[in-house]
Amino acid sequence: MSKKIAQVVFGLPIEGPFDYSVDSNFQESIAIGSRVFVSFNRRNAVGYVVDFRDKSPFARLNPVIDVLDKSPVLSQADLVFARSFSSFYGCSLGEALETILPAVLRKKNRVDFVFPENLPNIAAAEGKVTLAHSLNRKECFNFLSEQIKAVLENKQNVLVLLPEKILIKSYSKEISKVFDAPVYCWGSPFTSKKDLDIWLEIKSGKYPIIIGSRSSIFAPLRNLGLIVVEDEGNPAYFQDQTPNYNPREVALLRQENEKCNVTFVSSSPSAETWYKKEKYDWEYKYFPAENQAQVQLVDLSNYNPGKMSYLSYPLQSQIKKVLDEHKKIILFFNRRGFSSLTQCDKCGFKIKCERCSVNLTFIYSKKKMFCRRCGFSCDLPKICPKCEGAYLKSSIAGIEKLESEVTRLYPQAKIFCYDKENKALPEEANVIIATQAILEIKDGMKADIVAVLNFDAEVNKTDFRSGQKAFSLLVDLNLMAKEKLIVQTRLMDNYCIKYLKKLDFKAFYKTELKLRKELQLPPYNVMVAINIRGTDEEKIAGLSQELHDYLEQNIKKGVEVLDSKADEVSKLRDQYRYNVVLRSKNQETLLSFIKSSLKKFKKKSRAIITLDTNP
Ligand SMILES: [Zn+2]
Ligand SMILES: [Zn+2]
Repeated sequence: MSKKIAQVVFGLPIEGPFDYSVDSNFQESIAIGSRVFVSFNRRNAVGYVVDFRDKSPFARLNPVIDVLDKSPVLSQADLVFARSFSSFYGCSLGEALETILPAVLRKKNRVDFVFPENLPNIAAAEGKVTLAHSLNRKECFNFLSEQIKAVLENKQNVLVLLPEKILIKSYSKEISKVFDAPVYCWGSPFTSKKDLDIWLEIKSGKYPIIIGSRSSIFAPLRNLGLIVVEDEGNPAYFQDQTPNYNPREVALLRQENEKCNVTFVSSSPSAETWYKKEKYDWEYKYFPAENQAQVQLVDLSNYNPGKMSYLSYPLQSQIKKVLDEHKKIILFFNRRGFSSLTQCDKCGFKIKCERCSVNLTFIYSKKKMFCRRCGFSCDLPKICPKCEGAYLKSSIAGIEKLESEVTRLYPQAKIFCYDKENKALPEEANVIIATQAILEIKDGMKADIVAVLNFDAEVNKTDFRSGQKAFSLLVDLNLMAKEKLIVQTRLMDNYCIKYLKKLDFKAFYKTELKLRKELQLPPYNVMVAINIRGTDEEKIAGLSQELHDYLEQNIKKGVEVLDSKADEVSKLRDQYRYNVVLRSKNQETLLSFIKSSLKKFKKKSRAIITLDTNP
C-alpha cells in the first residue's frame, strides 16, 4: 500500500480525519495505528493514523513531523472497537482512541517496543452472556472460578471488573488462592513512563488475569475469553467524565467485537440488565442466600411526627433487647456528618458552598463544614453571614447527631459510626450507625439485626432509578442481617418493600419495568442529556433554551426533545449547569442527531457542552 498521505484523528470533539503528507524517511516506520506528531491548528499535537490515501482534495498539506511508535500501539482490532465505541457514545473516533489508550500515550512519549507479531490465533469464545444473580457470595465465586478455569485452560485471558479500587487487592488475593496464573491489579491511571512498560507487557500477553476498576475495561488483553463485571449495577461504575461511558455497556461492545464471554454479577441486578437478560435470552444463574432474615416493618405514621426522633418505639425496644442479649445491630442512616442543613433561625439563610449550589454538611468530629460535591471546607460561622443573627440551627440530622441521640438513650452501648471518613470498625462495637459506605464490605459484615431508619428518603429521590436503588439497598442490607431487617417507613405499600418480604425478584422487575415503560424511560428509551456549563448563569440559561428551540425546529423522526432546565446541582465548582434532555428508541439515531445538530448550532456565548448518556 502506498503511504503518501496519512489520515490522522485527534483526541478532540472534532470528527476528521485530517490529511498529512508522509516523507520518504517515514515510509518504513509509519503504519495504521501509529501515533504521529503533527501540526494541528497551528500547534503541535499527537494524532493517530487511521488510514492512508493517494490523493487529497487539499492542495497544500502539512507533513508528518515525527512517527512516535516503532510498531503501532493500536491494533486493527483496537480501531474497529474504537469505531463502535465512538458511534455508541457519540464521541469522535480520536476521543474514543484516547479513552482506550493509557494517559501516558496521549503525550509525545516514544514507544520503542515491538509487539510480537504472531500471537497465537485461538478460536474465539462463544460470546455468551450470563447473569449471575448472587445472594451467596461463596457459591457464586465457585461458579466464576469454574468459568475462569475453562478460559485459562483454553489459553485465553480474563478481565474482572470491580466497582471500587479498594476492592481490587482482596479480590486478587482470592483469585490467587485458586489460580497460579499471573494476576495484574489495574489500579493506576497509567500516567508515567514506568506505567507504560506495564501496559506494554499486558498488551504482549504477560498477564492472563487482570483485575481492576472502571477504566480497566479497556485493558489491552488479546485473546480475551471472559469479562466478569462484579456488582454490575453499582453507581460507582458511572462517572462524570467525557466520553461518559458505562463499563457494563463497553463490556458488551467488546463481547460483540472479540466474541468473548461476559458474566454480570449482582445481588439485585439493575432493571436495564434484567430487561436485557429477558430480551436476549441470556443465561441466568441464581444463587440463593443461605438463610433469609425476617423483614419487619415499622409504620412511622403511627408515631407522633412532632416528636422528632429517628428511633421509633419498636426500634428502641429492639435496641434494648440487642444490648441485653449481647448481640449486634446496624442502624442504617444515609446522611453523613452532624447535619446536612445549617440555617439562620432569624432570616432563614442557608449556609451554602461558596462554589456550588449545595448546602454545607457540618461534620462535628472535625468541627468543620464540608461540601459533599466539591470538597470545599470551612469553619462553622458564628453568626449569620446575611443578617448577623446569632442563632444558626442544624435542621437535617446526619449520623453524628443520631449517634448523640443513641448515646443519650443507651449509655452502656458501644456505639460506632461507619461512614466515608471513618472506616475502622472495632470488634466490640454493638451499635453500628452506618451510611451506605458500609455496603462496600458486604462480604464480611454481619449483624444480628439491621434497621433502616429513613427508607422513605431513599425512594423519594428525584432519580428515576430510585425505586430500583432502594430495592437493591434493602436486598443488600437484608443479606447483612442474621435475624431480622427492620424498615421504618410511611410507605407501607411500596412495591420495593412488598417484594423484598418474599424476595420475589421476578415480581419486582415486572413492576419496575412496567413503570419504566409507562413513563417511557430506559431501558425502553434512550435518554441523553446535553450538559451546558459556564460561569455566567443568565447566559447559560439562555443558551440552553436557544439550543432546545433549535433542536425542536430541526427535529428528526424518532427523536424527542424534552426540556431545558437547570441541573439538580445547578452550580458546581463555580460553573452553572443546564441540561437539554432528549429521548429516542434508538441510541445511534439519537446521538447522530445530536452530533450533527451541535455542529450546526451557533453558540452565542461561551460554554462547555458535553453529553451525558446515562442521565
Ligand atoms: Zn440570618
Ligand atoms: Zn462545593
